[in-house]
Amino acid sequence: MTVTDAATSPTATRGRPAASEALFRADPQIADLLAAEAERRAESIQLLAGENLTSPAVLAALTGPLIDKYAEGYPGRRHHTGCALADAAELLAIDRARALFAAPHANVQPRSVTSAMLAAYAALLRPGDGVLAMSLEHGGHLSCGSRANFSGRWFEFTGYGVREQDGLVDLDQVRDLARRHRPKAIVAGSISHPRHPDWAAFREIADEVDAYLVAAVAQTTGLVAAGAAPSPVPFADVTVAATHKLLRGPRGGLLLCTAELAERIDRAVFPFSQGGAAMNEVAGKAVALAQAATAEYRAYALRTVSGARALAEGLAEAGLRPLTGGTDTHLVTADVSPLGVSGAEAERRCAAAGLLLGKCALPYDPAPPAEASGIRLGTGTVTSQGMGPAELAEIAGLVGRLLAGDAAAPVAQRVRELAAAYADGV
Ligand SMILES: *Cc1c(COP(=O)(O)O)cnc(C)c1O
Repeated sequence: MTVTDAATSPTATRGRPAASEALFRADPQIADLLAAEAERRAESIQLLAGENLTSPAVLAALTGPLIDKYAEGYPGRRHHTGCALADAAELLAIDRARALFAAPHANVQPRSVTSAMLAAYAALLRPGDGVLAMSLEHGGHLSCGSRANFSGRWFEFTGYGVREQDGLVDLDQVRDLARRHRPKAIVAGSISHPRHPDWAAFREIADEVDAYLVAAVAQTTGLVAAGAAPSPVPFADVTVAATHKLLRGPRGGLLLCTAELAERIDRAVFPFSQGGAAMNEVAGKAVALAQAATAEYRAYALRTVSGARALAEGLAEAGLRPLTGGTDTHLVTADVSPLGVSGAEAERRCAAAGLLLGKCALPYDPAPPAEASGIRLGTGTVTSQGMGPAELAEIAGLVGRLLAGDAAAPVAQRVRELAAAYADGV
């Protein structure tokens, strides 16, 4: 592979400088921290579901000259001068998002997924309106009604959940709650549920009660882009996506919506909830969206799913209980209580051996949230590094050994070997 190929390939990870010479001279403390962070990553296996490795081409766009440009507003309607090139970059990002997701309208300015959720609610709702969303205990994000978040403070949330017997979303309950509460919006999507929402069913329920349908697909945006997950775009009024996570772009949000809602969504982002967009991030999003349209990226996305399936099978063999019996996505949520440990203890033991995963409260979890009975893992980063189903099956076995009480040292040794074999540019 040539240097240029490596930089433009959506799945390459090579050439990641931890810190430049200028940074070492100006601020050795932060430079040292960044160098240590690069080392930490190189020595561990990163299985946190929302993380990934930003592609080298995206990193280049992020540090490019648009980082300094103020461009409040939208292409052709800016509050600042000198925006012609920023406009061109944003139009490319918008056109690529519309084409990739077959969406009538796209807004690429949200600085985070939470900001995008705020804008989606602001476009559709008034304070005090009712919203039906997956309850936080069953896998909803904080922006789905947490009292610590604007959503729970400003709107009246009702939570639906999954069935205890099979762990799948209970659509009968969703329909019943929708009929009873007549919400103004229904949100489908989760941060830890490993199956895809039934978009047609959610649309039908929303239509029956005259509610908007919001698709919260930040976790699986990359799978939708690659055609590896059913697209919510034909069904949802607003789709809230992430450009980091599986898409390997800049940390940020992406809103897709119907032509009818375009103006309201744009106004809900700027000026309602944000100031000037970060134009370097917009440029980085354009790059990530172009890369996500390639056959190479599609193969990557499919491989995150086959890797996650191997991981789920391996964890089940080791005595853990994967929720819903497996996964359709890059993430696996598993009950660790059959092995007699809590989620928090599982997270600690794995971290001590270099396996980074997150404790996770499960639906109907009898344990207090700080302890929890589950763990959540994702295959985005390790797949970007080149690992596949064979390595993930082995990693599942390593997790199982740690939770069964085996000595940490030999597992840690194997983790370091695997990490080194795939560290090329982490
Ligand atoms: C990751 C995620 C978020 C939060 O994203 P931020 O960019 O950190 O705000 C919100 N909702 C869902 C469904 C997510 O997966």
